Amino acid sequence: MVKRVFNFYAGPATLPLPALEKAQRELLNFADTGMSILEISHRAKEYDKVHNEATALVRELMGVPDEYKVLWLQGGASTQFYMAPINLQIKGKPIQFVDTGTWTSNAIKEAKFYGRVEVVASSADDNYRYIPENVGFSENAAYAHIASNNTIYGTEWHEWPNMPADVPLVCDASSDLMARQVNVKDFGVIFAGAQKNLGPAGVTLVIVREDLLERVSDDTPTLLKWKTEAEKNSLFHTPPCFAIYICKLALEYWKDQGGVREIERRNREKAKVLYDVIDSSNGFYKGHARKDSRSLMNVTFTLPSEELEKKVIEGGTNRGLVGLKGHRSVGGMRASIYNAMTIEGVGVLADYLTEFKENNE
Ligand SMILES: *Cc1c(COP(=O)(O)O)cnc(C)c1O
Repeated sequence: MVKRVFNFYAGPATLPLPALEKAQRELLNFADTGMSILEISHRAKEYDKVHNEATALVRELMGVPDEYKVLWLQGGASTQFYMAPINLQIKGKPIQFVDTGTWTSNAIKEAKFYGRVEVVASSADDNYRYIPENVGFSENAAYAHIASNNTIYGTEWHEWPNMPADVPLVCDASSDLMARQVNVKDFGVIFAGAQKNLGPAGVTLVIVREDLLERVSDDTPTLLKWKTEAEKNSLFHTPPCFAIYICKLALEYWKDQGGVREIERRNREKAKVLYDVIDSSNGFYKGHARKDSRSLMNVTFTLPSEELEKKVIEGGTNRGLVGLKGHRSVGGMRASIYNAMTIEGVGVLADYLTEFKENNE
């Protein structure tokens, strides 16, 4: 057995071990082809099966309704920051955002190239510790954009904003995809880079309502139109075959474990274990996010001094608890406890933090 650590990196991130083991077993001879999946044509029937199974599993696990397309694209979630305005803008109408940190700020910057941007609410005033409440989007907005989970700050939307009837909500779910049950119908578009909750880097999942594919103008470059890949089952050109294959293995694993309902149950249990350590530490550990905005995925907190932060991170690494350094804009620590992080791993981290506090208070 290879020694594996508990990996709390924010992304790329830990993957289900059984999926990795299956990939390893199949690597040199995939489905009796005498080739690895890395070497097979994306037009071959063996790859086609992988591709369609991955899509079907997304549809099944997330309950994607028939009128939505599931796309596998390249360029990362950040590419969707401009693909969304390119595909959804309507001349003369504003594009509205809720700014909850770096990833929405980056999206705002890109949308400004394509339309008039309005930020209807922001938590910048308090270093993005919270999700703004009672957000109102305008009836005349072309579309609205939010990030469901804010990876860097450790905040997450717990209730979706009220939407005017004809305004599609675009959700960047890069860091909480399939982490909890959502109703896809609440959104016009959901997109996510795979590398946090779904699979490896190199593929981006885009779920888009079919009628929205028709908005894009004809003079748009081919690959910047969602419609191009929607009409070709994401096989207009060579897809990131290996990344999609690993996603498929992870999705099979999740289906076998009980689907998103079970993932959500585990995620709630994991998050509670860590927040309980923070809340019962008499201020030794201070959560960055306000309690009502806390994320199930990224637990962000600081210690009384940078010296202690350095010490706790080093001590963790020595025990096989890696990737715990917080993002530079928040400091301190961040434990990313995505879908594939086990309850066991979170328990080991919680015990270590409790012990560290007792020894260093
Ligand atoms: C990581 C992340 C991104 C950026 O993803 P890339 O695939 O690296 O472009 C975007 N949004 C959120 C919420 C993220 O967590």
